[in-house]
Amino acid sequence: MEHDIEALTGGALASIWSWVQGKIPAGVEVFDAHAHIGSDIDGRTMTGDGMRERMEAAGVKKSIVFPLNDPNARDDYSGPNDVVWNAYEEYPSSFVPFFRLNPHLDYDREFGRCVERGFMGLKLHPVSQKFELDDPRVVRLFGMAAAIDLPVLIHAGFAMQRIVEPLLPTVEAHSGLRLILGHSAMVEVLSAAHAFEGHQNLLFETSVVQAKDLYELCSSIDPSRIVYGSDIPYGDLPSTLHAILAAAEAAGVPEEALPGILSENIRRWFP
Ligand SMILES: [Zn+2]
Repeated sequence: MEHDIEALTGGALASIWSWVQGKIPAGVEVFDAHAHIGSDIDGRTMTGDGMRERMEAAGVKKSIVFPLNDPNARDDYSGPNDVVWNAYEEYPSSFVPFFRLNPHLDYDREFGRCVERGFMGLKLHPVSQKFELDDPRVVRLFGMAAAIDLPVLIHAGFAMQRIVEPLLPTVEAHSGLRLILGHSAMVEVLSAAHAFEGHQNLLFETSVVQAKDLYELCSSIDPSRIVYGSDIPYGDLPSTLHAILAAAEAAGVPEEALPGILSENIRRWFP
């Protein structure tokens, strides 16, 4: 499928895109902490090549990539995880591969296979795979990730009912567990910022968050805890970059904090 970055960066949006480019501090290699490769049951698709094209067009250097809610996930997600791994092997300097699991199913073998292979993190989606964050099978999985220092990205955005309350016991039990809250826990952004303030290994990822919630996030947590994400193919690089930079400016985040949000905060985990 052809993409059209000009539609997002040209015409009426040209001045917005040039504002974004002017805001990105010189020398910052933008890192996207949330993107998908593969197919979704809703019909969306993204290939490794398609991702690379978008990154090059928007000046993004690195992306964390993982499967969608894939119709071919079958039991263990091994097929979609392989698609992500193949993209990583093709572009090892551009992609940071995460694997995805379904906590309802027997996940131990696929967990072991992916860790052995060299995947750098785990993605979990409580809405698509229909589980709560305090489900014992999920809590066990968090413990397995903590034990081997494997970062975990959790969908914590639209359609979520409970985030802070079911997650807090895990975060407190495993202070070393590196967690990325996808979409910044937007439905509970203020209580999440408050509850997780002292947990330095928990990051807030900014893709596809309403403007007011992004503003509240930028106003209520140290910018060293915020990481930029696009959620390609649901978001796109130009408009998600605009959203976080505009929210940061409106909230009075100092310019010196922007390299962290756009790159360095997440690059500490994946140098
Ligand atoms: Zn996503």
